[in-house]
This record gives sequence, C-alpha cells and structure tokens, in this order.
Amino acid sequence: MLKVIQSPSKYIQGPDAISDIGHYTKILADHVFVIADNFVINLIGDNVSKSLTKHEVTSHFEVFNGECSRKEIERLSAILLTNQCQAVIGIGGGKTLDTAKAVAHESKLPIIISPTLASTDAPTSALSVLYTELGKFDGYLFYPKNPDIVLVDTKIIAKSPIRLFVAGMGDALATYFEARASSTAHHQTMAGGTSSLAGLALAKLCYDTLLAEGSKAKMAVELGVITPAVENIVEANTYLSGIGFESAGLAAAHAIHNGFTILEECHHLYHGEKVAFGTLTQLMLENSPNEELETVLDFCVQVGLPVTLEQLGLRDSENLHQKIMQVATASCAEGETIHNMPFIVTPDQVYAAILAADQMGKDWLY
Ligand SMILES: [Zn+2]
Repeated sequence: MLKVIQSPSKYIQGPDAISDIGHYTKILADHVFVIADNFVINLIGDNVSKSLTKHEVTSHFEVFNGECSRKEIERLSAILLTNQCQAVIGIGGGKTLDTAKAVAHESKLPIIISPTLASTDAPTSALSVLYTELGKFDGYLFYPKNPDIVLVDTKIIAKSPIRLFVAGMGDALATYFEARASSTAHHQTMAGGTSSLAGLALAKLCYDTLLAEGSKAKMAVELGVITPAVENIVEANTYLSGIGFESAGLAAAHAIHNGFTILEECHHLYHGEKVAFGTLTQLMLENSPNEELETVLDFCVQVGLPVTLEQLGLRDSENLHQKIMQVATASCAEGETIHNMPFIVTPDQVYAAILAADQMGKDWLY
C-alpha cells in the first residue's frame, strides 16, 4: 500500500491572526462568502470586514443557523450562488467549520477555515460530520482535499472556555497511541494509504508537547492570556493532532469514544473528554507498560480530563455492567476504527479494558 500524507495548504497561527485574514484570502479570491454564527460575528465580524476591505476583498456575511445539516448546507449554497462568491470563509466552532467545508465543496470553491476554539483536531481535516436538523448524527462527508487555509487566532482561543481547551488536549492525547497502533498494523488511514515517517513523527510530537506544556497552557488560558505554552498546545490540539489522526491513523480510542456516545449519561461530555478515557482504555487493551499508563493518567488528572467512569457521569448501579457491555459492543461495530488495532479486538476485551482503566483511575485518584 502507498504512504499518503495530506494537510491544509497553509496553516497560520498567532495572536491577532484574524487581522491578516484579508491578506490570505486575497491569494484565493476577490469576493468571498463568510459563514459564522451571531456570537462570532458580534465578537470579530468587524475585524474580519476591516481586514478584507483593506486587501480589496468584497464579502457577503451569512449567519450560520447552528446545525451542520444537509438542509443548512443547501440553504447556504443557494445564497452563495446568488452572490457569486469565489471562496468560502468559515469562522467558529466545529459545526460552523464543517458546514463551511461542505458549502465550499458543493460549489467547488476554495475554503478558509478559522477555528475560534482549540477543542478538537477537526479544522485541518478533509471531512465534515453531518447531523439531522434535530441534532442526531447523520454521517460523514469526505472531501478530495483539505482546507486551503487554516488560520488560528490565539488571542481568541485564549479567551475561550477552559473546559473546551482541555477537551482539545483529550482529543490530541489519543493521536499518538492510535497512530502507533494503526501503523504497527499497516492499516489504511483516513488519507487513503499507510502512515509515513512524517505522519508518525507529528503524532509523537503532539504527545510530547502535551506532556511538556499542557498544565502550563491550562493555567494561562484560565487567566485568558497567551504564553508560549498556549501557542504550543494550540498547535498540538489543532495542527499536530489534525495531521496525526488523518494521515497516521485512528484506532481503539476513538471507537471507544463512539461507544460511549450511545449512553444518555455521557451526552454532557465533550468529544475530547470521552476520547481521553478511550485512550486509557486502549492502553489497557494493548497491555501498555505501567510507566506509560501512569504518565497518561497523571497528565489527565493534572489538566482535568476524566479517568474514571464516575467522572464520565456513570455511577455504580445495578445495570452499569450491562451499559459498559453495550459501549464495548458498539465500539466493535463493523467499520469501527478499533479494527485498526494490530490484533483482533472483541467486545469482551473492550469491556474488561474499560473496567480495568476505571479501576486504575480510581486507585490513582484516591
Ligand atoms: Zn477526535
């Protein structure tokens, strides 16, 4: 199988990066369609407009209705067509960005992505997650290419809610371990080939950066300020993890995350919070050495990621074991990335690994 690595054409990050959005947009278009929700437009709409005008780019702003659904994509695509825009800018959280990617793809136009959170590694990727208008999962859209430009303003990220910033670290925590497992098994990644040296090295750098800078960065974001550690963690959560998951492979941690989504009790959790526990479970599943498990546990506890079932919202009850079995079964469904592990994984093994990870988390805490 061929090795494939894919990434956005340009990745730009730093304080006040949004003030340069006009400069980077001008490379692609003279007239642009901007998608953002009301909150984001109120927060930075003026800065975006000013920068576009300064670089002689005209624009049409459209408010995102809150759900990345087929209907919303159709609605926005029709408005874009009427306005004859030459590129799309998506600014905001995951759903806004995924919608903007879909609208650009539909119209075969370049796309500029500007995340206002560092809560997942989705911004750089060539895919969107679709929901129904009622907010239920509806499937994935895969694109032939990644965003043309990803622009991250760290001043905006530093003011974002701390729990979302930490959840981004949870999503990034899985990247190296999933890449390691998937590449050992020589499985195909989302990029359509096996992982490269570069993909794996970025995934490892992602993990090393989290361990070295995670706590420092959390402290700074709690104060709403940018330090070098914040810059490094934003890069790890967004770019390193983004290239890592897409081009070096997903494995058990994300499949176990998907398993937990079936439980009502876990619906209040962010993606990265469930992925962090999925990572601990994967390490248990592959019988990772104590030292590695303890390093990951210690990191999770330091930054505030869940390490027990109770922290995921699951209290001891009569049917807890039944629920965990449902999670384990769902995580082993056909097509799940758990089958990228270098050995055959069964629901019984996942069930055991979840309970063992929970016990290790409890022992660590008390
Ligand atoms: Zn993820």
